[in-house]
Amino acid sequence: MTSKFVHCLLGMCAVAGGTSAAVSMRTIDATWPEPPGEASWTFVEDLKKPLPFALFWKDGSAPQPGQIDLSAGLSVKQRFPDEKGVLKTAYADLDGFLAFAKLARADGFSVTAEQVATDVSESYAIDVSPKGIRLLAGDTEGIRRAVFHLEELIAAADGPFLKPGVISRKPWLKNRITRCFFGPIKRPPLRRDELMDDVDYYPDAYLNRLAHEGVNGLWLSVEWKDITKTSFREPSPDMERRLAKLRRTVEKCARYGIKIWLYSNEPEGFYSPDDPMLKAHPELAGAGWSSRRYICPNAEAAQQFIFESTRWVCSQVPGLGGLINISLGEHGSSCLDSVGVEADRRPDCPRCSRVPNWQTLAASQGAMARGVKAGDPNAEYICWLYMPSWKPLAPWVYELGAHMPKDVTLQINFESGAVKYQLDRPRVGGDYWLSFVGPSDRFARIAGQAAAHATPMSAKLQVGCSHEAATIPFMPVPPLLYRKYREMPALNVTSVMQCWYFGNYPGVMNRAAGRLAFEDFSGSEDEFLRALARPEWGGDADAVVQAWKHFAEGFQRFPLSTRFQWWGPMHATPVWPLHLKPALKPLQPTWLVGGPCGDAIGEALDNHTLDEAVILSRQMSEEWNKGFALLQALAPKFAGNRERLLDIGLAEAIGIQFASAHNMMRFYLMRSGLYDLSPADAKKRLSEMEEIVRAEIRNSERLAELCAADSRLGFHSEAERHQYSGSRLAWRVEVLKDLLATEFPEYRAAFEAGRQVSRFAEGRATYACGSGWTECRTYRWRAEKEGGDVVLKAEMKAPKAAGNFAMYLCDPFAAVHFWEIRFSTSGSVSDSREVGLRAEPYQTPEGTRGVTLRLPAAGLQAYDSSGRAYAFNIFNGGLNADNWPIGMDETDLGKYRLALGLFKPQKMGYLLTSRGL
Ligand SMILES: [Zn+2]
Repeated sequence: MTSKFVHCLLGMCAVAGGTSAAVSMRTIDATWPEPPGEASWTFVEDLKKPLPFALFWKDGSAPQPGQIDLSAGLSVKQRFPDEKGVLKTAYADLDGFLAFAKLARADGFSVTAEQVATDVSESYAIDVSPKGIRLLAGDTEGIRRAVFHLEELIAAADGPFLKPGVISRKPWLKNRITRCFFGPIKRPPLRRDELMDDVDYYPDAYLNRLAHEGVNGLWLSVEWKDITKTSFREPSPDMERRLAKLRRTVEKCARYGIKIWLYSNEPEGFYSPDDPMLKAHPELAGAGWSSRRYICPNAEAAQQFIFESTRWVCSQVPGLGGLINISLGEHGSSCLDSVGVEADRRPDCPRCSRVPNWQTLAASQGAMARGVKAGDPNAEYICWLYMPSWKPLAPWVYELGAHMPKDVTLQINFESGAVKYQLDRPRVGGDYWLSFVGPSDRFARIAGQAAAHATPMSAKLQVGCSHEAATIPFMPVPPLLYRKYREMPALNVTSVMQCWYFGNYPGVMNRAAGRLAFEDFSGSEDEFLRALARPEWGGDADAVVQAWKHFAEGFQRFPLSTRFQWWGPMHATPVWPLHLKPALKPLQPTWLVGGPCGDAIGEALDNHTLDEAVILSRQMSEEWNKGFALLQALAPKFAGNRERLLDIGLAEAIGIQFASAHNMMRFYLMRSGLYDLSPADAKKRLSEMEEIVRAEIRNSERLAELCAADSRLGFHSEAERHQYSGSRLAWRVEVLKDLLATEFPEYRAAFEAGRQVSRFAEGRATYACGSGWTECRTYRWRAEKEGGDVVLKAEMKAPKAAGNFAMYLCDPFAAVHFWEIRFSTSGSVSDSREVGLRAEPYQTPEGTRGVTLRLPAAGLQAYDSSGRAYAFNIFNGGLNADNWPIGMDETDLGKYRLALGLFKPQKMGYLLTSRGL
C-alpha cells in the first residue's frame, strides 16, 4: 500500500472549516471539564436536615362514626424496657411529628408501648381502642416500627382520627442492608477510607430517615490487614484508630436500630513473593503464580488465620451486624478463584486439587463463620458468591449451595444470568438488573439447594438503581421492586444487600423495600403501591401510581446487555459529544473517572443491533414521558413541597437521559447509512441529523437547569463524582454548536457539489487486501480476498519463535459490536462470535512459524454487507504488544477494559477489500 493511496482515500473531504465556538470538535478531549468538587455535593447537607413531615388532612373534616378523635393530642408513655436508650430517637421523632401536626403532647389520648412475646424481632401490633393506643412488641425495634407506622396512619387520615382495631406486622425479611450514599469506596483512584478520616458519614437526620425507610443495616468496606490482629502478622499501626471510629459508628447507628456490616473480599492472599506473612508462613499459600498467590483454605494454618481474623474484629467491635465477604468471584479469596466460576476443573494446588471444589469453599466459609460466632454470638456471617457473568457457570458451582457450613447465609446476585426476550429474541445479561424482575434461574437453582440444606439466602440486588443508569439517586419504579420481593419468601431469602456503591439514596425505592419486608402479599400490587404513595402524595396517590406504572413499563425495555449497562448511554448521554465525521473513539466506563464518550457505540451493543437499541430506547422514552406528564401535572399543587418537587425533577431528568440516549443512537444509525446515499439524499438526511443535534442542545440546556436545583443529578457514587454537571452540560452545548458550525456545513457543501464524503476517520492507517506483507516488529502479516472470505497470514520473523495474536475487527464506524479473534502459530483459535474459525499453522523452509486464518464471508457480513472495508487491528504478545497499526501506545494498550478486552477503536486502522472506495 502506498502513501499516495492513503492520501487519496482520506483526502476526499474538504479541510475542516474554522471554529467559531469556544469548544471545537478538535479540542473536545482537552477541554472536557472536571466535575465540580465535594463542595458542590449539597445533597450531603440535605441529608443532615430532618425530613419534613407531611399531612394531608382535609380542612374542617370531622371524625366518621366509630372513629377515635385525637384532636386533644396524644400523651406518650415511654415505658418499654430500653436499657441502651435506643428508642429515644423514635420517641423524639413522634414528638416532632405531634408538634408539626399541632397536636398537644400531654394530657391527650394515651399511647403506651408495651412488651409482649413475639416470635420474630421487629414484629409489632398497634391496638387502637377508645381506651387508648397500645404499641405492642417483643423488642425495641418492634416499637420503633410501631411508632413510625402510627405517625403514618395519622398523617394519611383525613384529620386526627383513627379507626379502632388492631394492625399487626411481622417481617419475613430480617436484614435490610444498604450503604451510605456518599461514603468512601476504599478503591482507586481516590482510595479514601472512611475509618481514617474524621468525617461523620452518618448524620442523625440521615439515619432517622433510613430507619423510617425500614433499613436496619449499613455496610462499609474494610480490609483485614487494616483492622485485624492475628498470630500471623503484625497489625497495622492505624488499627486502633480505625477500630475506634468503627465502634463509634456502630454505637451511633444502633440508636436508630441500624447495625453496621463489614464488607470485605478476604483472605486477600499475596501479591509478592516478598510478602512478610508469606515468607513467615509459606504453608498458607496455595494456587497461583509468583506475583499472585491465593490462600489455601484446605491448609490448616489458613483456617486458623481466617478464624483469628474474623474472631478478632467481631470481638473488638461489639454490636456489629456481622460480616459480608465476597468469597468467590472478585479479586480472589482462596485457591478457588484461580479456577474462575466458568471452568470445570479444580485449582492447581496440591491440597485443593484432591477434594471437590465445594469442599474447598466450605473449608474457608466454616472458618469464617466460626470466627464470627466466637467473637460475638449475635453477629452473622454472609458468604457472597459474586458471579456476575452472563455466561453459563461450571457444574461444580451448583454444588456449593448444598454444602454451606453452619451459621453461613449464602448471598447470590438476584439477577446475574438474566434471560429476557426483547424484540422476539432472547438476551442474556450479567450483574444486577432493576429492569429485570428475576430471580435468574441461577439464583433460583442455588437458593433451592440452600433451602434443602437449611442454609438461609441473602439476595444481592439494587434497590435504588443499578448499572443501567446510576447517575441518579434512584429510579422510581416501585412496581418492579414489588415483583422482585414477591418472589423472595419462597426462595428462603432472609437478607437483602440493597446496593453496591450506588442505588442507595433515600427515597421511594428504599421506602418500598422497607415496606415489602413486612408485606404478606395477600393484597394486590396496586394496593401496595397506593399505600406507598399516600403518605407522600395524599389524595393524588392514584395519579402517582399510574406514573410509576408507566415508568416501570418503559424501564423494562432497557436493552438487556451487560456492556450496554457498563459503557452504555443511559447514564450521561446529555454530556456526550456527537461526531458527524467518524472519529472511532471509545466509550467510557460509567462507574469510573474518564474523558468524554466517543462514537464507537457498538462497544455497548453486544446483545442488540443499533436498530434494535433505537427501537427499545424509543419505547423506553415514550413510556417514561407518559408517566412524567402525570407527575408534572401535580407540580403546581406541590409547589411548597420541596421533596415532591425533587421527585418530579428527577423524573424529568431521567426522561432526558433516556431521550438523549435514543437521539444519540438514532444519530449514529443515520450516520452509518449516510455514505451510501446519493449526495442529494445524503443532504436530506443531514438536515434530519441536524435536527437531532438541535434537540440535544435543548436537552443539555434543560438538564443543566434541573442540575442547578438538585445536586444529586449526575452523581455516581462509585465514581465518587458527578458524571454530568452544569459545567459539563454547558461544555456539551458548545461542542454541539461547533459541530453545527463546522462539520455540518462542510458535509453540506460536498453534497451540494454532488460529492460524497469519506466514511473513514481521518489520519488512520489503511491496508488493502492483496498489497503484500506488512512489517511489524516481531512478525509480518498480509491479507487476501478470496471470494467473499478474507484470508489472513501472520508469520514470525525470528526462527522458531511462536506468536500469540489477537485481532479486532468491526464496521468502519464501530457501530456493530466488535469481533475479537485470538489465534496462534500453534493453531489455537478462539473468537467472540463463536463461528468456528480454523487457524492453520505452517513453517517456512527457513524455519519460521506462521499461521493462516480464514475469515468467512458469513462472519464478515455483519460488519459490512458489501464487503468493502473494516476497522481493524492486530497485535502479538498479549499486553506488551507488537501491533498494527504500528505505533499504538503500549501503555495505553495495556489497559484491559473488562468485558471489552483490548478493544481500542481509537487505535484501529482500516482493512480494505476493495480499492474502489
Ligand atoms: Zn489450595
